Amino acid sequence: MTNKKQELITDEKKDNPEAKTDAKTLPHVSLPPALSVKQLADILQVSGIEVIKQLMRSGVMANINQAIDFDTAAVVASYFGYEAKKQPVSAQIKRPTPTGDGELSPRPPVITIMGHVDHGKTSLLDAIRQSNVIATEAGAITQHIGAYQVEVNSRKITFLDTPGHEAFTTMRARGAQATDIAVLVVAADDGVMPQTIEAIDHARAADVPIVVAINKIDKPDSNPDKVKQQLADLGLVIEEWGGDTVCVPISAKKKQGIDELLENLLLVADILELKAEHDCPAEGIVIEARLDKTRGPVATLLVQKGILKPGDALAIGNTWGRVKAMFNELGKHLQKAEPATPVEVLGLNAVPHAGDSFKVVNTEREARMLLKKHEDMQQKVPAHAKTLGLSDLSTQISAGQIKDLNIILKTDVQGSIEPIKDSLEQMGDEKVKVRVIHSGSGSITESDVLLALASKGIIIGFNSRPEPGAQRLAEAESISIRYYNVIYEVVKDVDKALKGMLEPTYTEVIEGQAEIMAVFDAGKKGKVAGLSVKEGKIRRDALARVIRKGESIHESRVSSLRRFKEDVKEVVAGFECGVKIEGFTDFQVGDIIQSCRQEIVS
Ligand code: GDP
Repeated sequence: MTNKKQELITDEKKDNPEAKTDAKTLPHVSLPPALSVKQLADILQVSGIEVIKQLMRSGVMANINQAIDFDTAAVVASYFGYEAKKQPVSAQIKRPTPTGDGELSPRPPVITIMGHVDHGKTSLLDAIRQSNVIATEAGAITQHIGAYQVEVNSRKITFLDTPGHEAFTTMRARGAQATDIAVLVVAADDGVMPQTIEAIDHARAADVPIVVAINKIDKPDSNPDKVKQQLADLGLVIEEWGGDTVCVPISAKKKQGIDELLENLLLVADILELKAEHDCPAEGIVIEARLDKTRGPVATLLVQKGILKPGDALAIGNTWGRVKAMFNELGKHLQKAEPATPVEVLGLNAVPHAGDSFKVVNTEREARMLLKKHEDMQQKVPAHAKTLGLSDLSTQISAGQIKDLNIILKTDVQGSIEPIKDSLEQMGDEKVKVRVIHSGSGSITESDVLLALASKGIIIGFNSRPEPGAQRLAEAESISIRYYNVIYEVVKDVDKALKGMLEPTYTEVIEGQAEIMAVFDAGKKGKVAGLSVKEGKIRRDALARVIRKGESIHESRVSSLRRFKEDVKEVVAGFECGVKIEGFTDFQVGDIIQSCRQEIVS
């Protein structure tokens, strides 16, 4: 039984649910405003069939994945001996932590648009921009600066202008959480598609509430109800069906439903109670940046707290500067930018990265000092310290440092997902929960690696391999991908990780190769091999392997490395050197020496 069920059922289940009981004595069960038949069966610890039978008795025909509302679920619960209590909606929307410790004032929401390709994300961003009062000022031509603001009922809403969950998660992977609400665009003629599911998982992993926009309702073959059902099957139950997901039918092409969507975004923003400190030095993040031929480095910044003004000195990512001028998306000069305002800024010394943070400082000197500190910190962090392998997580779990073991599961076939996911999700306990934050069939993509990076998770490939780009990204970011072809092995490793007992596994990385060109006698001190380094580098103290005619004949350590009688730490390709290898003197001209290092892979 899952912990969730234990949480939801507040009293012990009666031995005989069939027995009719007095309402006052019924144990309580806490149910959301809507849930699927399967979820209800799980909570009540009965089979799906029993729930379906009960529903039929009450005249409701539903399949196992179908969503039912609270009232219907409550009737079924009472039959099984429980009194149902409705979970408050507010408990399901997690409010973001306000930025700033000083006095907080309301700020506009920041929105990202996500969804499957061709479902109309760009068209929706364009439709919103065109319907906007600020943007239609006489003669104004909007420019793409990475974000824009619209005004609805005298309130502002900020839209990030790069749609898609990849951009959203890339920012998160860099430590920047900019989005307050995700708008999920689903085309009514196409329905839920793989990237729709990915977008939902990415938004959920970030705890960002989702507002659904069912697009293309102008098309004759549009079927919004089918989309609603598909979303309910994924746990996104719309308000109309008793759930808590706001859903607005729209046509981005015909500009229908755009005002309703914007008004609903403001309502969700009200529930979130978005606030930020205004009276403090400005801070925020870089939305995008580029080098302009005539204007130099140009960056679009999203202010998250404080008020940014021309003349402010900034420490920003790996660079710094002084705000020479600020513009909005209409190219209009701005004298101030409040929290949640995007501004294009000139006056930086170099181009920062999207997702970098910025901070206003008193002087340029302070900016340079902050930058130096930042660089020193980065140098001190060894590459493997970023590694989020299962064994690292295992160590952190045993130290009580993590509460969620986040897993991204990719399998070769759809049918393998459920059994593995179910096995994994049943494994957590009260200390650590196992969360499969995203699952799907097919190869491991860059988007999966980004999600693992942003959510401090690991990737499990069950008969699934990474795409080349994903492999490179995983290596660069030290993201652990573990491969399995037997379910039992997956479960065993995750179980060990949860118990804090998983030992790290190592892989060997060949750093360089060299060929022996001559062998010298070093008297009592043994033999020295004269090498020509062909690839990479040979390093002192590295693990050394001697290869003769394609076969490894010895493995130990590079005990001495010299160039022109000088002891050196390493010698790179194109240079010659002399080496000694621990416990080995039988060098022959033509032997290959490999210099290797051990790396943790999990
Ligand atoms: P994106 O890939 O999600 O950004 O999708 P686009 O905005 O590029 O739209 C994909 C295609 O769908 C384009 O040909 C749009 O003209 C079309 N499209 C977008 N919204 C609508 C709509 O509301 N109705 C109709 N009929 N077509 C739409």
